[in-house]
Amino acid sequence: MAECDILVIGCGPAGLSAAGYAARAGYSVLALDALAPGGQLLYIDEIENYPGTEKTSGYALAESFEKQAVDFGVRIEYWEALSIRKENNIFIVKTSGEEVRAKSVIYAAGARHRHLGCAGEEEYQGKGVSYCATCDGPFFKGRRIAVVGGGDTALTDAIYLSKLGSEVILIHRRNEFRAQKVLQDRIRERKNVRFELGKTITSINGNGKGVESITLSDGSTIGADAVFIFVGVIPNSEILEGFAELDKGFVVTDSMMRTSVPGLFAAGDVRTTPFRQVVTASGDGAIAAHGADEYIQSL
Ligand SMILES: Cc1cc2nc3c(=O)[nH]c(=O)nc-3n(C[C@H](O)[C@H](O)[C@H](O)COP(=O)(O)OP(=O)(O)OC[C@H]3O[C@@H](n4cnc5c(N)ncnc54)[C@H](O)[C@@H]3O)c2cc1C
Repeated sequence: MAECDILVIGCGPAGLSAAGYAARAGYSVLALDALAPGGQLLYIDEIENYPGTEKTSGYALAESFEKQAVDFGVRIEYWEALSIRKENNIFIVKTSGEEVRAKSVIYAAGARHRHLGCAGEEEYQGKGVSYCATCDGPFFKGRRIAVVGGGDTALTDAIYLSKLGSEVILIHRRNEFRAQKVLQDRIRERKNVRFELGKTITSINGNGKGVESITLSDGSTIGADAVFIFVGVIPNSEILEGFAELDKGFVVTDSMMRTSVPGLFAAGDVRTTPFRQVVTASGDGAIAAHGADEYIQSL
């Protein structure tokens, strides 16, 4: 059994930032990750929008997040958190390693993008296939950009991408959009957006280095240099079901990252947040550590 003041679940930007802040404040901190420290950073080929950092690889940024946390005294274990409960003001977390007992828990398990599952999607991820317009849109200035989806995120990001790309091809499996009417009006005003409705992508094609075209369910093939997929985000919050308040799976927090369970904080992509980025996740982590500090002092 392991004991600590603050247990951090998930070692992406939110978790490592929270862990570092908490350790620096003098707490014993254990941080767990089911896979490897870095989280989604490990899938980012190039990152150029993390403030104060020049363009670098996600892997390099993950390494510096991890090193800084460890230098502050964080203990990192490659354990998956499997269940959580609270007894007499102590959190008891079962993991794939040891059981952990902690005064406070910061939950930073991130989220994953729903994939289309079509041919070429995995092969070209990071080589033209993206799930984040803010992250990767600027790499495709003046190019042909396909966008998939029909909700608010898809239309908002398609509008943003239409300001960068020479052409946006908007593909949606239905003939109507789910997005708010105002977004539908705005996208129809964009001169360089072409609509392919009632269709899906069956394959993303390329030359091994980058995307060149997409094939649609009607058999047509359209030239495209990038494919942005916005068909949903799935939070990694399964172990909190029935324990903390969730909204469509996202952990509900206040501005101090407090959840519905006193002493349990959530940070980063897993929580209800309007913007999922490295900088916002890191900021959440710092606030959560501050919240955990206040909570432990109040015990
Ligand atoms: C391809 C790609 C490109 C991106 N590009 C950019 C960009 O250019 N700029 C930018 O700002 N953002 C970018 N993002 C988004 C950014 O990476 C995320 O917003 C950020 O990583 C979220 O951090 P997080 O710590 O909340 O979660 P994550 O990074 O998802 O980390 C969560 C961690 O929790 C672990 N975990 C999950 N469940 C458990 C469990 N039960 N037990 C233990 N560990 C668990 C996971 O293994 C993971 O390591 C990109 C994302 C992707 C996928």
